[in-house]
Amino acid sequence: MSEPAARAAELREILAHHSRRYYVEDDPEIGDDEYDALYNELRDLESAQPELVTADSPTQRVGGEPVSRLEKVRHPQPMLSLANVRSAEELRAWIARMRAHLAREGIEDPRFSFVCEPKIDGLAISLLYRDGQLERGATRGNGEIGEDVTHNLRTIAQVPLRIDDAPPLLEVRGEVYMSLPDFAALNERLAAAGESTFMNPRNTAAGTIRQLDPALTARRPLSMLAYSVGLVEGLELRSQWEALGWLRAHDFNVSSEIVVLDDEEAVVEQCLEWQRRRGGLDFEIDGVVVKVSDFELQRRLGAVGRDPRWAVAWKFPPTTAKTRLLAIQWNVGKFGDLHPFAELEPVHVGGVTVKLATLHNEEDLARKDLRPGDEVIVLRAGDVIPQVVSPAPHALENPHRQPPPAPPERCPICGTPTFKPADSVFTNCPNIACPGRQWQLLRHFVSRGAMDIDGLGETLVATLLNRGLIRGAADLYDLGAEQLLELDGFGDISARNLIAAIATSRERQFHSVLFAIGIEEVGEVTARNLATRFRSIDRLLAASPEEIEETPGVGPKMAASIASQLATPVLRELIERLRRAGLRVEEEGPPPGDGPLAALTFVITGTLPTLTRELASERIVLAGGRVTSSISKKTDYLLAGDSPGSKLEKAQRLGVAVLDEAGFLALLE
Ligand code: NAD
Repeated sequence: MSEPAARAAELREILAHHSRRYYVEDDPEIGDDEYDALYNELRDLESAQPELVTADSPTQRVGGEPVSRLEKVRHPQPMLSLANVRSAEELRAWIARMRAHLAREGIEDPRFSFVCEPKIDGLAISLLYRDGQLERGATRGNGEIGEDVTHNLRTIAQVPLRIDDAPPLLEVRGEVYMSLPDFAALNERLAAAGESTFMNPRNTAAGTIRQLDPALTARRPLSMLAYSVGLVEGLELRSQWEALGWLRAHDFNVSSEIVVLDDEEAVVEQCLEWQRRRGGLDFEIDGVVVKVSDFELQRRLGAVGRDPRWAVAWKFPPTTAKTRLLAIQWNVGKFGDLHPFAELEPVHVGGVTVKLATLHNEEDLARKDLRPGDEVIVLRAGDVIPQVVSPAPHALENPHRQPPPAPPERCPICGTPTFKPADSVFTNCPNIACPGRQWQLLRHFVSRGAMDIDGLGETLVATLLNRGLIRGAADLYDLGAEQLLELDGFGDISARNLIAAIATSRERQFHSVLFAIGIEEVGEVTARNLATRFRSIDRLLAASPEEIEETPGVGPKMAASIASQLATPVLRELIERLRRAGLRVEEEGPPPGDGPLAALTFVITGTLPTLTRELASERIVLAGGRVTSSISKKTDYLLAGDSPGSKLEKAQRLGVAVLDEAGFLALLE
């Protein structure tokens, strides 16, 4: 065998292995950039020597073979892949190739409109509707044959089960994905429960949709964006842009970011713009899909191998990277819990340089078998905190690996001997006065949603603690401007401003105070519900666990934990001092049962035109209503702003009334 032939055969084998890991097992061993580099090497070899192409080459086929445990289905029209471009030059070359191809077809100087769409990093699916009813949903599989996942797709709120005014036959294509906040919350929940966390949103979504048990899928929050129409009978659509409009008008979730552009250079600008903004979206995108909009031109352009000629994917630089894990360090949390984090050889990933990354908890650390000195894979997607996902595959074969790390026997901040509570995945520092713990508690106390003290960030909190000016939250209210003047960077005005901001925080509502003092498991919503239920700190302090359990969203375990925390001298003293400092320890407004929104339950979603969510909640509670975080049949109203997401669809499905801000304000009156 010639050298290129041998290399091509080797590459086919390597790529087949990684395709299987990625498409079939949803558990890739290497990053997309590495895969793409190998793929491009094979493609270049094959285009230099076309006789090297084999029918089973990954350059000729799409995706992975469907697995046997799910029913297989043949797609009415093949689901293709996309050729990639990575620069303005490559994008212009693609357009030039299309012009040349059309010229050969006798079409001189075609007028292109380009639809630019975010390339969501999820899993492609096809939805088949007959007479408006969802008949079948399938994965892409190998492009010809996919897997029937109708049972799971039905659990996704954004997959319409029926559509009105539908043609007799319609195939809709789109991407199933997990949003970044949902992914972060899922991993946090798994980490807190001591379970294994997921590597990235794409594999989580792919693994979830291909489960046999729809109940499991339903527990993992998936979303869907629709981006094209496949087979259709009885409906005339002339362009991609028109198709997207039709989908949107028929309740499909179509990205509001999509634009249509006539000018090549504007397309390049758009791709670069999204590349810059990539981290600002709440789902992961790995590029921009640029499509020729006109269906007649699409037809004339056709496909080459596994890729249509009329579309390309502008690929972004990767969000995973390999680097060395230099050391494992430990952070102390608000409640003394020790959290491992990684110190890394600085690496550029997802548009930033990463030096530190979370390791979740010690059990996750052990499960992933990460050791100092290992080469590791780091993920930084969107605004999600960078995380170490695994050792690089070959790191495990290194015979000189360091022993597995153990949690510290003494608190890294205060030196107190640590212990591991039986029911926790975190080793704990039991020292209530530990400065690490105090710092976290104070950071929380001053944060938004809590006391929201403007100008008091975490660095300043640390300085105040280190200089001994404060020891805990209550000391903030005894600070004087002259004490701040001792600190670097403070002048008369800035010192007075900060003291004024601290004073203003006395006006925060009771529920904010309750949230701010840091009771384990009591988040913003629970604090609000406790405040509504008990109305004053004295009533809450006197309540039994059984009474606390009557609060919405509080179960027996949580009620017992809240009661026992509130009984500790530390919290009692803090509450007394805050009361003396003039903070609100009673709920304002009419008790539940009074006010225009008495006994009504609201959920708020999306961005409202003038009110912030906090303000809207406050108005609801002051008017006697309740705010909860998730929609159920018991919800009376969904207050929905722009980009409402899946809550809107769930509300519509459950028949919950939906209000916009104007409607809400009218209701208040
Ligand atoms: P692709 O991901 O490059 O492009 C096609 C896919 O884009 C479609 O199937 C669809 O799922 C998606 N897509 C998202 N938004 C879209 C939109 N608006 N319009 C149309 N499609 C949209 O091609 P591919 O063949 O699915 O897979 C190749 C990718 O998978 C490469 O990025 C490769 O790196 C990765 N991969 C990685 C490994 C690994 O081991 N890491 C292995 C195999 C493949």
